[in-house]
Amino acid sequence: MSGLSRRKRLLVQGATGSIGQSVLDVARRHGDRFQVVGVAARSNLTGLVAAAREFTVQSLAFETGSDSEGARREIEGSGIPHVFSGLNALEEQAANTDYDLLVNAVSGGAGLEPTAAALRRGISVALANKETLVAAGPIVMKMAIDHGAEVLPIDSEHSAIYQCLLGEKLDSIRKIWLTTSGGPFRDFETAELEGVSVERALMHPTWKMGQKITIDSATLFNKGLEVIEANRLFGIPAERIEVVIHRQSVVHSMVEFVDGSIKAQLSVPDMRLPILFALSYPERLKSDLIQTGIEHIRSLTFDPVPSGKFPCLDIAFQALERGGTVPAALSAADEVAVDAFLNHRIRFGNIAKVLQSVLDAWPDEPLDDIITVRRADVAARRLATEAITSLN
Ligand code: NAD
Ligand code: MG
Repeated sequence: MSGLSRRKRLLVQGATGSIGQSVLDVARRHGDRFQVVGVAARSNLTGLVAAAREFTVQSLAFETGSDSEGARREIEGSGIPHVFSGLNALEEQAANTDYDLLVNAVSGGAGLEPTAAALRRGISVALANKETLVAAGPIVMKMAIDHGAEVLPIDSEHSAIYQCLLGEKLDSIRKIWLTTSGGPFRDFETAELEGVSVERALMHPTWKMGQKITIDSATLFNKGLEVIEANRLFGIPAERIEVVIHRQSVVHSMVEFVDGSIKAQLSVPDMRLPILFALSYPERLKSDLIQTGIEHIRSLTFDPVPSGKFPCLDIAFQALERGGTVPAALSAADEVAVDAFLNHRIRFGNIAKVLQSVLDAWPDEPLDDIITVRRADVAARRLATEAITSLN
């Protein structure tokens, strides 16, 4: 898109969350390039209405059954031309709004249908919502190819890999090195992990994120989801993806090529960089947002993940190897388990036990379509809930 052409029109779903707010910040700072034409969320409707007003959006979607009556009345009286509400609000908004790029910053399985709705229209998706790729990766990626649309990862590791692969061929990849900070418990002994508090688990050493992904980062299930996400996006099998602890969160991931060369992408940890990359792709926008100094890269360390310490990571690898609906089931079960931990209904160590029991009980079955994914999602949530009850 040249400087003279019109601004890229963004539909930002999950606009009130951690990533959503960073997306709005990038759009605000680069208002000459981006126009936010729609916003959507479930929580913080007051914040959603404020964003809608600031950007004078055309469309707003919110999941009903949530937040205050006052905010709801405010939405009704806001004069926004198109308001979508109800269970399928985000999908309907993605299917019926005029925009150039869907920015999917919703958390959890709810991100799938809007992504599919955009891709079916040939509209590209800047995707933070990794659960979409984990649960339905093969379906989503095929949809993108069939309709000539792109899936542009916002997850920092996958943005790094995407950037390392520019100008390269996928069959030139020997291995992907997926970096993780190691989360807040990287220096804890395995035995200490069982009963850590919610407050402690929410203290991530390098990133400030939504609650679900922060807990996933503490169990390292987030890294497991990212292994599956990398497999979906780049077609690399599990045995050629290595997770490595990199405490500084400066090297966002690395790609090793068949000749032995390794490329990495570096910056201070700030999600606005992968967001800016995805929003402006295939261009790179001039921006002074991110400044990485020598002090940030002076000392970079890489360590293996201690075996047996983070069972949720091993479970995710097993889910990818089994394939079919197993990743969808594990992703849904994890939402239930993390929610139970956040609400003090299970101990930290039991998150892995819930996932293991769903993995053990889950049948091998093919991943046919989105309906299959949804069915797996519902059944896995039920199994996870039963596992939680039996633990207590
Ligand atoms: P968050 O909890 O801060 O925000 C989630 C947003 O999605 C909120 O606006 C919420 O209202 C909305 N939402 C959730 N469920 C919804 C539903 N059913 N219908 C409509 N809206 C709904 O989460 P976050 O940290 O911003 O993460 C968002 C996604 O990005 C997740 O998939 C996460 O794994 C991924 N991600 C986040 C980060 C990060 O730094 N926060 C980094 C990489 C990837
Ligand atoms: Mg990540």
